[in-house]
Amino acid sequence: MIIFGTKATRKLLDQGTFDCPQCQQTANFEKRRARKWFHLYFIPIIPLETFPAYVECKACKGTFVEGVLNASTGATSDAIRAEFETTALAILVRMAWADGKIEPEEVDAIEHVVNLMCARDFTRAEVEAEIAAAENSLDDALSVATRAGNMLNDEGKEMIVNAVFRIAAADGVFSREEEDTILEIGAGLGLRPAHVRGLVRDLVEQAQKSSGQHTH
Ligand SMILES: [Zn+2]
Repeated sequence: MIIFGTKATRKLLDQGTFDCPQCQQTANFEKRRARKWFHLYFIPIIPLETFPAYVECKACKGTFVEGVLNASTGATSDAIRAEFETTALAILVRMAWADGKIEPEEVDAIEHVVNLMCARDFTRAEVEAEIAAAENSLDDALSVATRAGNMLNDEGKEMIVNAVFRIAAADGVFSREEEDTILEIGAGLGLRPAHVRGLVRDLVEQAQKSSGQHTH
């Protein structure tokens, strides 16, 4: 068994105020750069990857690409938000495809969860169109999650894991394939496998508790 993992550090580059595209107010921001470190067995931790700088809103904890600081009109921040929303829907849909079929409850769950996560409303038709497009798409869960991972901080990444779990559990069964897909999504997001497993364990526990409460 090979034991390895990654650890991320986040260096503060700049701070100030900006117009946050997510909470839509002037808020404090911190600009940071994440660096990923890799460790394997007893080899000392080595720097692995440096990510583009990102901007975090101190008010809503949203994270954005650096360009958000230069946004003179709403256009740029709208584009960033639209990109996040498209990616969020794409991840949820790929989660639903994990077991090779999509149940009506899963479509309901995707529509519900994506509209909780996003500032805009997705229609049923848009959700169904993404489901159809994703079936034979080469853009798999891992690659879509990697795209999201570049936009999100740890809090945002955990939110995605939480959201995909709700899709996986929507049909009342949390299968092995679904767990594998969550781990794949977690890896794409840049979360450690142990971290993702811990989140999933907590979510399964919560789901069991709440279903227990309903039957008693
Ligand atoms: Zn904000």
